[in-house]
Amino acid sequence: MTANSLTIGHFQIYGLRDGFFCLDGGAMFGVIPKTLWEKKYPADEHNRIRLGLNSILIRTGDKNVLVDTGIGTHPDSKFKNIYSLDLHPGLVDTLKDVGLEREDIDYVINTHLHFDHCGGNTFIDSGGENVPTFPNAEYIVQKGEWESACYPTPRDKASYLAKYFRPIEEHKQLHLVEGDTQIIEGIEVLLTPGHTAFHQCVKIEFEGQVLFFLGDMVPTSGHVGLPYVMSYDLFPMKTMQNKEKFYGLAIEEDWTMAFNHDPEFFFGKIEKKNGKYIFNPG
Ligand SMILES: [Zn+2]
Repeated sequence: MTANSLTIGHFQIYGLRDGFFCLDGGAMFGVIPKTLWEKKYPADEHNRIRLGLNSILIRTGDKNVLVDTGIGTHPDSKFKNIYSLDLHPGLVDTLKDVGLEREDIDYVINTHLHFDHCGGNTFIDSGGENVPTFPNAEYIVQKGEWESACYPTPRDKASYLAKYFRPIEEHKQLHLVEGDTQIIEGIEVLLTPGHTAFHQCVKIEFEGQVLFFLGDMVPTSGHVGLPYVMSYDLFPMKTMQNKEKFYGLAIEEDWTMAFNHDPEFFFGKIEKKNGKYIFNPG
């Protein structure tokens, strides 16, 4: 077992990284003063901090499930500069490292449809057409999230880029779910509103062993503390409530957590010490 993979029953789970990008440190940490986060997340001259674009791949034995797809293969140069993208080798090449091709993915689960979670859903093929990256996959999205993405408000318009999700519908690979839903035995999506109204986390379970993919509910190990909520969140109080709810279960049942944007850790545990929640890399 390497640091980027773990086994839960018959599930082999890999942490895959599309690359890194940068976001404003203040926006990432909400009401938390810079003096508290800048030691762990040093800001560049534009006040941006470096974040991972982390996905997980779950191999069940006969199915391959990918959770989130990074920031994508076709950003323009202005976009690349704004977010200081560093995409080497990129998600599809990282999949090859574990012996898989694009065609081998059976399910793609998007926690939500912000561009840094679904950017790799599509790519420009050799004919110049924008098509689903994973031609044999069903893409699992919450119905409410799909509607938010298709009809964004001025506040979240810049986060929803239609080129990353419309082709999925056009190619009839979109599978909308409503609320908590089992995708296949042992893999379930759970509605966790906060970051967006219909954000979903993913729970992988086998005989009491659990891996929980946090999505943007807790983007990095530096966001484990309850008030460490991003300014990007549409419903920050909901994020806090869901953090507390799932931390309670995670501590009681010894879950492993997977982090969507941690630049270092894919996996780790959450502990409560002196009334505060803390990260334990394990
Ligand atoms: Zn994100």
